[in-house]
Amino acid sequence: MQYPEWIWQNGSIKRWAEATTHVMSHALHYGSSVFEGIRTYDTPNGPIIFRLNDHNQRLFASAKIYDMPIPYSLAQINAACHEVIKANGHSTDYLRPVAYRGLGGFGLSADTPTDVAVATWKMGQYLGPSVLEEGIDACVSSWQRFAPNTIPAGAKAGGNYLSGQLVAREARRLGFGEGIALASTGLLSEGAGENLFLVFNGALHTTPVSAALLNGLTRNTIITLARDAGIEVVERDLPREYLYLCDELFMCGTAAEITPIRSVDGRQVGSGRRGPVTERIQELFFGLFNGKTADKYGWLEAVK
Ligand code: PMP
Repeated sequence: MQYPEWIWQNGSIKRWAEATTHVMSHALHYGSSVFEGIRTYDTPNGPIIFRLNDHNQRLFASAKIYDMPIPYSLAQINAACHEVIKANGHSTDYLRPVAYRGLGGFGLSADTPTDVAVATWKMGQYLGPSVLEEGIDACVSSWQRFAPNTIPAGAKAGGNYLSGQLVAREARRLGFGEGIALASTGLLSEGAGENLFLVFNGALHTTPVSAALLNGLTRNTIITLARDAGIEVVERDLPREYLYLCDELFMCGTAAEITPIRSVDGRQVGSGRRGPVTERIQELFFGLFNGKTADKYGWLEAVK
């Protein structure tokens, strides 16, 4: 992998190779980090960062859940995101702010300093080339998501991603493009790193935040754009078998964007290819970046 040259770490821009941390950092041992994934897009009006403030607000919310003080303000983290894009000459499309418990004690409750970094790199299409059109084959994972009041699914924290790694690695090992997890209730939760939408009779059905999922900003964007376009959206508990019975199915996330799913557990979903509602949602979503969808909510922030 080719790494970009510059990273923001603890208040200054450093060379990629110099942005290191100690092997005894708390986060490395106990998963005590919180992070974000944010996309940048080229638009007819120049490069933008998508929902920067909303993402970094979630970063602070995740840190609050884990009682981790971040020694910078929201405005400073937002500025660091701009700075690192600029330093790398606008050659990247993905931002990764991360705050983590650093070196300063080995006990689980140690009050270590919180280190903060913002990296950026070129992500391209997360689940592979041409998947946005062709879709992927998914499977239901043998691993469930965490139960309520165990690991808080609403935090985007490093340790939470042990779950996602089990789901994603099992799916890849079995030859699937991505894995879908059930909640501890046995009802549908979400993909390894994506939220889920099922289409029935032209309406979108998505799993509720009570189903051990991360409340995705792409999910929120889709719900908002769909409702504005007169498409019905229902947040509801959904059983596993509905994956096989829906007309269309897609997953969404900052990395995966809007990825159609053409089969689950070897059963064809709908027509076995991207359906018309999925395509319409993609048009509305990518329209934000090609100028066809109005940015009514101020989601696009010009790169400074
Ligand atoms: N669920 C999980 C577990 C994720 O990791 C992600 C990606 N951040 C999402 C859902 C989608 O969230 P977002 O749309 O905010 O990227």
